[in-house]
Order: sequence, then structure tokens, then C-alpha cells
Amino acid sequence: MRALVWHGRTDVRCDTVPDPVIEEPRDAIVKVTATAICGSDLHLYDGYIPGMMNGDILGHEFMGEVVDVGPGNTKLKVGDRVVVPFTICCGECFFCLKGLWSCCERTNRDADKAREMFGHPCGGLFGYSHLTGHYPGGQAEYVRVPFADVAPTKVPDGFSDEQMLFLTDILPTGYQGAVYAEIEDGDTVAIWGAGPVGQMALRCAKMLGAGHVVVIDRVPERLAMAAEAGAETIDFEQEDTYDRLNKITNGRGPDRVIEAVGMEAHGAGSWDAWGDRALAATGLGTDRIHALRECIRNVRAGGTVSVSGVFGGYLNGFPFGAAVQKGLTIRTGQCNVLNYMQTLIRAIEEGKIDPSFVITHRCGLEDGPKMYETFRDKKDGCIKVVMRPHG
Ligand code: NAD
Ligand code: ZN
Ligand code: ZN
Repeated sequence: MRALVWHGRTDVRCDTVPDPVIEEPRDAIVKVTATAICGSDLHLYDGYIPGMMNGDILGHEFMGEVVDVGPGNTKLKVGDRVVVPFTICCGECFFCLKGLWSCCERTNRDADKAREMFGHPCGGLFGYSHLTGHYPGGQAEYVRVPFADVAPTKVPDGFSDEQMLFLTDILPTGYQGAVYAEIEDGDTVAIWGAGPVGQMALRCAKMLGAGHVVVIDRVPERLAMAAEAGAETIDFEQEDTYDRLNKITNGRGPDRVIEAVGMEAHGAGSWDAWGDRALAATGLGTDRIHALRECIRNVRAGGTVSVSGVFGGYLNGFPFGAAVQKGLTIRTGQCNVLNYMQTLIRAIEEGKIDPSFVITHRCGLEDGPKMYETFRDKKDGCIKVVMRPHG
């Protein structure tokens, strides 16, 4: 079959690889009908997350048709149309039973590596390095889905792949971002990052009662898409975010902030007056955590900082003193997709949200390598790429 394969930093190729087969009784094989490139894939593309190896198949946002099931899988049958959450979970361990699906302690085949780095085994992820189980990903014609009797979810008829695909990741991630922000009715919410996750977080923040949402980015097309959904926007390269947010909030700062940038952050504006530029050998430099620093700096005292962005290791220049002085709540995590799945399927069915609005580019797998670059560099107004491996 054809699949997008990581060969090194910024080197993704569409290769011919062996078809996946059932390996464990609870497995299923899914024929991928639609798959997307995520901002998290860019962290692998740019080499910010360690543990990728030459030959690893990428992709963790995918859906499709079940074409084979293992003998121990009583939930799925051949022909089912499913969305497959990006986190692999067993459904039975201490963390799964608490709804902390992304922290499943049984699905990471490289748990020792994760424990060494994070102090926890961490759940398995599709297409996301040897730190999280080296599971081949779904930017492929077919994918093996382990523990397929837990997370994969059948989708209702009458909706296109494009309407359902983002239930695998960015829609619930945006939703969790808004839930973790602890929004109260009428709150002012500021969101850093108008990429796919920020776009979803904006719409979910409104669903959860935000009175006013401000979105910060520097890419015109992305800011325009946020404005279409009713957000006030700030181009952080054109004006001082701190001043503008203070004007909007009578000098106090937004009640809740959401970080939807992660390690692609570009520093600009006021950040350098607020810390040093030192790049430590042990961690990401302050320019790469610019948005996170801005979130902590701008949120009002007693407010909540919800971090959806992904960070791979140590952070240099994390302003913890401000978090203490302002009495902040900080919440973060990989998305526990299953907690929001049914709520979000209903929201799509009821027309409260149609996540396909975010798609700007459509192609086959062969064009995937080029699309990684287009998406990373925000060329051609690219906000979200969806690939159809079978045309
Ligand atoms: P993306 O890279 O397309 O979007 C990031 C946006 O941030 C871009 O539009 C960029 O211009 C903007 N940006 C860069 N620096 C900025 C700054 N200093 N201030 C404000 N905006 C800035 O990615 P995405 O797909 O939207 O994903 C965003 C983050 O969410 C990534 O880190 C990704 O790994 C993470 N993510 C997390 C989860 C989870 O489960 N927690 C799931 C999916 C994605
Ligand atoms: Zn993702
Ligand atoms: Zn588990």
C-alpha cells in the first residue's frame, strides 16, 4: 500500500510499504477514506519531538471503513464506518477508568522510554514516534488499529467524511481546550493560535458560554477565518497584544486564555522585554514558547490558562513566578477524545458546528509531502489539509 513515511527532519515521502495485518485479537484493520495533517505532525516534521525513526508511517487523524477484525473484537464488524481517535486506549486500566484516556498505562509499547522522559508510561498514539508506542499512522491506505474495541466510534449516516473526520482530534482538542479553560457565562476568552485547533477552540468556547473571544495570530487568512466566527482578532506582529487586551478588558486581562500554538511558536512583540533570549541546550528557547509566555502574562489574576499546544520536553524561560503571583490555574494534556465524542457527534448532527469549515486543501497521498511544507509554511492560505488515500 501507499503511505506517508518519515525519513528525517522535513523529509516525508509517499512510499510503498507492506499492508498491515491483524496482530492481536482486539485489532481491526481500517481502510482509510480520509486523513488529515495536524499541527502535531509539524512538530515531527520539524524534528521537535524526539523518537521518530527512518521509515515510520505518519498520521493520527483518520477515518474509514473496517475491512478486517480480530477474533477478540466484539464491537466492530467489517463494513462499519468509524472515526479513530488519535489516542490508543485499553479501556480497562486505572487511567482509562478515570476518563484519562490519553494517559492509558497499557497501550504504549515503549512505556519505558516515556517513563524515563515524563515519569509516566503515556498512552500509545498513532504515527507519533517511539516515545508513544511506534504505532504506524493513518496517512496511509490502510492502518492497523490496536484496542479497536475501545476508541473507534461508528459515525451516523448522512454526513460526509469531511464533516466527521475532525472528531478524531482537532474538534475534541478544541473542545477540551475550552472545557479546561473553565469558561463562565459571559467570560472574555483569548486564544493564541488561529490554526485548526485554535479555530475549533474558538467555536467551542462560544458553545460553552464565552461572551467575547479574542484570537491572536499573524496569518491573515487564519485571522479572517476567526473573525468570520465572531472573534475579535489581533495580529501580534502589527500591534502589542498586551496593550490591546488590556484595552478590551479595562486593564485586567482576559478571564480565560487558551494556548493553541505549541512548539511552532514564533516570538515577536513584547516578549523579549519580559525575559531573556537564552537558548538552553536542555530545552526549547523562549522564542519557541512565546505564546505560552504571553498567555501567562496576559490572563487576569485568578484566571485560567488552558494549554492545548504540544510541548515535547523541557521549557526554558517558563514564567512560573507570574503564575504564582497571579494565582493562576493551568490545565493541559493530550485530548481525552472519548469524553467528548458523543457530545460532539450530537453537536454536528444538530448543526451547532460543521467542522469541515476549516479545510482549505484536498489531495491524494502522493501530494502529501508537498502539503506538509505548504501547511507548515502557511502557503496558499493553507489552514487544513485533508487527503483521500483511495481517491
Ligand atoms: P498550526 O501550527 O496550524 O497552528 C498554530 C498557529 O499558531 C499558527 O496559525 C501560527 O501562525 C500561530 N502562532 C505561531 N506563533 C504564535 C504566537 N507567538 N502567538 C500567536 N499565534 C502564534 O497547528 P494546529 O493544528 O492548530 O495545532 C496547534 C497546537 O495544538 C500544536 O502544538 C499541536 O501539536 C497541538 N495539538 C494538541 C492536541 C492535544 O491533544 N493537546 C491535539 C492536536 C493538536
Ligand atoms: Zn493531531
Ligand atoms: Zn488504559
